[in-house]
Amino acid sequence: MKIICVGRNYAAHARELGNEVPEDPVIFLKPSTALLQEGDSFHYPSFTSDLHYEAELVLRIGKKGRNISASDALHYVDAITVGIDFTARDVQAALKAKGLPWEKAKAWDQAAIVGNWHPMRTGPVHFSMTKNATMVQEGDTELMIFSFDHLLAHISVFFSLEPGDLIFTGTPAGVGPCVTGDVLEGFLEGQSVFTLNIHA
Ligand code: ZN
Repeated sequence: MKIICVGRNYAAHARELGNEVPEDPVIFLKPSTALLQEGDSFHYPSFTSDLHYEAELVLRIGKKGRNISASDALHYVDAITVGIDFTARDVQAALKAKGLPWEKAKAWDQAAIVGNWHPMRTGPVHFSMTKNATMVQEGDTELMIFSFDHLLAHISVFFSLEPGDLIFTGTPAGVGPCVTGDVLEGFLEGQSVFTLNIHA
């Protein structure tokens, strides 16, 4: 199983980090060990002092595919939820400044959180996340630069999709830091899909 992540898929978020709006999807991977397993608690990593949440819609692949067409792409997805692409922003800034790969900032153990799965649906999808019961991020598929169809077609040119693979589809504006003791809660269409406590 692999985790494929999309960067800069909402114009407002690209702008808030001072990045260009991309012409093609920005793609990076996390290993399977990055996924927080059900029942495990999340701990603030020792190697960062600027842990940022990025709430994202996450798709789960249901069947094998390669070079799939955009018109057929949603047939390869069996479930959707909201998750967090955790980022050690200080580590990422140092790596980006040197033009180095991002993995130490984004692909570490427990850097990928997923909520409860819901059946895949067609039409616009709305999601949000709260920090300590205050809304911090809100997104909608209609605000994405690249649609699910376009992302799946593009990704499968480079990477075979296999059942169980996860696709993090990018974060809207509003990313920010969290500290030990914070509680993050994700919502898909207003329904709670995860509650995450940040432990020391
Ligand atoms: Zn992200």
